[in-house]
Amino acid sequence: MKLNKEWHLANVMPKNATLEQRIAWHLEHKKHCACRDIPQKLQDAMKKKGIKIL
Ligand SMILES: [Zn+2]
Repeated sequence: MKLNKEWHLANVMPKNATLEQRIAWHLEHKKHCACRDIPQKLQDAMKKKGIKIL
């Protein structure tokens, strides 16, 4: 498992994050870290919004 600890320490997901915040967090997360995938539910929401998963 590749965990970018420094990135995570600098980018903590806010509590009660909005959908937009979660999407933004995961898009950024994917660039820097591979410890987890974007949840299926979030991927579906992104597709609906027309956001491409890189
Ligand atoms: Zn990570």
